[in-house]
Amino acid sequence: MRALLVEPSKLYQDMVGGVFAKHDIEVSCFTAGKAAIAALAVEQFDLICTAMYLPDMQALEFCLRLRGVEATRFKPILMLTSEENKEELNRAMLAGVTEIFSKNQLDHLSIFIGEFVQRSFRKNEQHGHILYIEDSPSVAEATKAQLISLGYKVDLFSSGEPAFEMFIKGRYDLVLTDIVLDGQMTGFTLIREIRKLPGRFGEVPILAISTFDDPQRKIEILNAGASDFLLKPPLEQELAVRVANLIINRQLLDKVQRQQEQLHELAMRDELTTLYNRHYLMEVSPKVFRQAYRQKFPVCMLVIDIDHFKKINDSHGHRVGDLVLTQVGKLLRHNCREEDLAARFGGEEFVLLLPYCNLADAQSKAEAIRREIEELKPNAIVVTASIGIATQPLDKPYSFELLFEAADKAVYRAKALGRNRVEVTAD
Ligand code: GH3
Ligand code: MG
Ligand code: MG
Ligand code: MG
Repeated sequence: MRALLVEPSKLYQDMVGGVFAKHDIEVSCFTAGKAAIAALAVEQFDLICTAMYLPDMQALEFCLRLRGVEATRFKPILMLTSEENKEELNRAMLAGVTEIFSKNQLDHLSIFIGEFVQRSFRKNEQHGHILYIEDSPSVAEATKAQLISLGYKVDLFSSGEPAFEMFIKGRYDLVLTDIVLDGQMTGFTLIREIRKLPGRFGEVPILAISTFDDPQRKIEILNAGASDFLLKPPLEQELAVRVANLIINRQLLDKVQRQQEQLHELAMRDELTTLYNRHYLMEVSPKVFRQAYRQKFPVCMLVIDIDHFKKINDSHGHRVGDLVLTQVGKLLRHNCREEDLAARFGGEEFVLLLPYCNLADAQSKAEAIRREIEELKPNAIVVTASIGIATQPLDKPYSFELLFEAADKAVYRAKALGRNRVEVTAD
């Protein structure tokens, strides 16, 4: 990146030059306005920084001249001054200065430059998928080419109907739509239809672009659900920055949502076995019981408790104990259908919640699991488990606690009857 600095004092040139250097920006220094303007006519700069008082011209005139030529029209012009007169400062802003910094607070300048560098960096890394609807072929091709050159992927349509069909099939980061389109559907209707869609689809940012210049129309379009509005034909820079802002916000939101899902996933899993934890099981089971009662399908619960686990820990160490738990967890997961829920309920106690499973099927499943655990022999250690089964009566609403209590009683009986066996609750 390159900056042009106009500053009559050598001392300040060095100080400000140091600020730019800190951000890896190369600086060309000038002591007066005319020489700087001559340089700007032949060289490209990303930033311009000027003192308020120049020896050969008013800095305000300097700014007006830069704003009048294409090369510097949209470049940031930063002004450095010790001037505190509000009217003078306002005049500078009116002449086109981007931001004014006090010569005594160069750290503020440094923060601005840091942010500017970051933004430019992001601009070069633009990516995103845009659905673009525009019926004028010449406008459409030019805008599409611009968006592609900025790094976006663009799907172009001239009418709303096929665009909407494409939209619900794809994963777009932005919809850019004209209002008057080919076909029956207007951009206005398209916006309303998109906003009716559930979840991420309905929340896509929409940038409406139109020749309608009256405030009432603009308000209607925004009310229909457009995120932003742009008057046609837009300046290239304005289109670029509005598109970038909308897409960056969307991508940030997506990132936050992904992180939230990951956190939720983490919070509901047991770290050692990666099965669900007790907390999650308690959270989701009421829904299972409600549905089972309403739709009259059976639910069974298996409580699986490893036999003499304390002895395994005592003779082989805690780490081997952990390995046994991990392997049993894996075995249980392999024995689950998609609708089953497997959780580590406590230390060496596991719960399987089996919707759509009757008692007879639960018994054979439990027997199979008991046998597999016996045959598992992790680290050549014989491990067995006692399993209790309970089922939900179809004629009354049930709860996790009731079913667990019943299955736990059955485990207790299995232990009393010699362990390594399956027992069904007596009630
Ligand atoms: P029973 O056959 O009657 O169930 O006897 P048990 O020894 O399996 O039952 P008890 O409840 O007396 O002991 C369970 C042991 O499980 C005690 C505890 O130290 C151990 N334990 C609990 N959580 C973990 C864990 O995360 N890792 C390991 N290695 N051991 C654990
Ligand atoms: Mg049109
Ligand atoms: Mg045990
Ligand atoms: Mg136990």
